[in-house]
Parts: sequence; C-alpha cells; structure tokens
Amino acid sequence: MSSVRLENIIKYYEPTNLVGNEPRVPALDHISLEIHDGETVSVVGPSGCGKSTFLKAIAGLEFPDSGQIFYNNGDVTHIPPQERGVGMVFQDYALYPSREGQGNLSYYFEVRKKTEAEKEQRLRETAEMMGIGFDLLLSRNVDTLSGGERQRVGIARCIVRDPNVFLMDEPICNLDAKLRERTRIEMKRLLTKFGITTIYVTHDQQEAIFMGDRIVVMRAGRVEQFDTFDALYYTPANLFVASLIGTPPISILRVQLGGDMLRSEDGTSWIIPHDLMNELPAGALRLGIRPEGWLVSLQAGEGVPMNVTHIERLYTERAAFVHGNLAGSPVNALVSLDFADVKQVFLQPDWERAYFFHATEETPLRLPGVPDLF
Ligand code: ADP
Repeated sequence: MSSVRLENIIKYYEPTNLVGNEPRVPALDHISLEIHDGETVSVVGPSGCGKSTFLKAIAGLEFPDSGQIFYNNGDVTHIPPQERGVGMVFQDYALYPSREGQGNLSYYFEVRKKTEAEKEQRLRETAEMMGIGFDLLLSRNVDTLSGGERQRVGIARCIVRDPNVFLMDEPICNLDAKLRERTRIEMKRLLTKFGITTIYVTHDQQEAIFMGDRIVVMRAGRVEQFDTFDALYYTPANLFVASLIGTPPISILRVQLGGDMLRSEDGTSWIIPHDLMNELPAGALRLGIRPEGWLVSLQAGEGVPMNVTHIERLYTERAAFVHGNLAGSPVNALVSLDFADVKQVFLQPDWERAYFFHATEETPLRLPGVPDLF
C-alpha cells in the first residue's frame, strides 16, 4: 500500500481538431495533491474535465508533460504501469481473455508466489463479497461473460491482489441498480478492511460520496477542491463546487443588499439579521440556499410566496422536495410530508445556513461552515 503524491502535473494531449489559433487546453493543469496511504478518494467533475486522464497519469498509462508523481516517497513519474503495482478496473477494461474467471483471480498469486492458503483465503473473501452466483461466474470462460459480469470479475481480481494503489474508473456503472448498491457497499467494506489506497472516478455523486473518504472536484483540468464531503458541501471553495455538490442542487438567487433588506429583481425581498448584514458588502450579491436551508410555511406572510411546480417525494425519508422558481432561479425546498399536494408555499431562508457569493466572480463571501453535530 502507498500514499500517492502529485506535484504540479501538467498534461497536454496532441490537439485533435483545433481551428486556427485556438489555445491548447491542458487535460491536467498544475495538479498537486496527496492521497494518504489506505485512503479512498473519489474524483468528480463534468465530462471532459480530466478525471480519466488524472487516473491514467497515476497508473502510468499516460505520462505528464511536466511535474512528478510519487508512490510513498518514490518517484514513479517515468516508471511503466506494470512496474507500479497498480490494480485497475476501467469501464472498458479487458480481462486476460484466455483464462477462466477463476484463473483471472489466481493469476496474481501464481505470479507473486503467494501460498495456497493465502490465495484461498483471499479468494474466498472476495467471492463472498461479490455475492451469490459469483462462484458460478468464476468457472466460466471470460469470453462468455456479459459486460457486467466481466466487470465484477475485474473488480474481484484487483481486490485479491495486493496492489499499491487501486484505480477504478466507473467500475460498476454497467451493473443494474440493485447489484450496484450491493457491490459498492461490499467494495467499500473490503477496501477499508485491507486498507487499499484507492482512487475512484465516477459521474455518480452518491457513489462518490459513499466511496470516498475525500473527494477531488475537477474542472477543466484543474482541481477546484479536495476535501471531505462535509467540507465541500458546507465550505465550498467557490460557486462551481457549491453548485456541483448536493442533489437537488443549491439554488442561486441574484439579489441586492441595501441596509438590512435583500431584494431580487422580481420583487422578492427578505430582511436579514444585523450581524449578517455587517458581514456582507452592500450591493449586488448571489445568495445560495440548499434544499434544507429553507424555512417553509403554508401561511401567507411567513416568507415570500412560491408557486409549486411539482413535488418529489423521498419515500425512504418521509419527506419531499417542493420545486418552483424564485427570483428567476429554480428552487428546491425540503419539506415534511404534511406538505403533500400544496400549490403554494412561503419561503424564508434559514440565515444560519445561507451561502453568499460575489455577484460576478465565484468567490464565496460568507459560508455556513460545517455544522457541529456532536
Ligand atoms: P473525463 O474523464 O473527466 O471525462 P478525460 O480525462 O477523458 O475527461 O479528458 C480530458 C480532456 O482531454 C478532454 O477535453 C478530452 O477530450 C481530452 N482527451 C482525452 N483523451 C484524449 C486523447 N487520447 N487525445 C486527445 N484528447 C484527449
């Protein structure tokens, strides 16, 4: 097992379809970060932001133009992938095709000369993790397995090995919802148990939150923030991170602060507490409220009215999101089920939970901070 450290990594691909003097955009743009030994880190960000390239650079499948990569304190920047001891499960990752599933798993032990007992123990644990029917998959030739089945064998094969670093790119996106949930729970359990340093790329935010001890948020080749989910959620580095993290997303309203009055162009207005007023610059601002940050009432006068466009029930939580628009922006407010079928609600931000951003830049001006729950 290893820590992984990137120092100032820059990576350009050869331009494929640039027109005229369009500037080349790096796929990785000055990336520096450190992943601790045994930690699982998720990587999220919009399509094309560099998540896969980030993973490939760590694996050695792509080499950076400049910068250095270290496993523990050893420089692996120019070391080929097969010498790095990485386990990889990529979306389109091929298994050793001529071997049966079982052979795929035991291949590593044959190469590394592990004892038969070690091999059996770890194989058994991994097969158990993969659940009912997995032992049947193992006895089949890889060519006869479906995409999802191959993926499960691929994950198992990596876990039975003892990789320095485990790299996964959308490893379970081909599985159906139920199997995906079970696989991720079991994967997380085994990664924690064996303390395998893991980097996990996914477009699924729930999966990223579940798998990652910390989360890397990327945009256009850059790391915007690298922290725990709570830190990203309550203390986002900028408006981009605030908007990306959280479902349904934070509502962002354009407002003007004059005295203790916050107004938007459509006439929405609230009076804000004095200490908050003193913290903020007067003039144009952006106000961010998350679904749980609204105080919602059915009584006229308790907040500004919002017509409800639709209600989305959260069956497992005995709660719902009411959706509508305020000040020209979509709003999602979390309510209890007593609000079923309402056509209009009255909204007031819970100011303790409010986010404020600069009107034209992404800089935060005031953030709620991670709540002290314990
Ligand atoms: P993500 O995984 O977040 O979708 P990628 O790492 O695949 O992003 O891609 C980052 C950027 O690099 C994108 O602009 C993509 O088009 C470009 N890119 C990726 N692979 C190549 C390649 N082999 N050749 C040229 N450009 C590439």
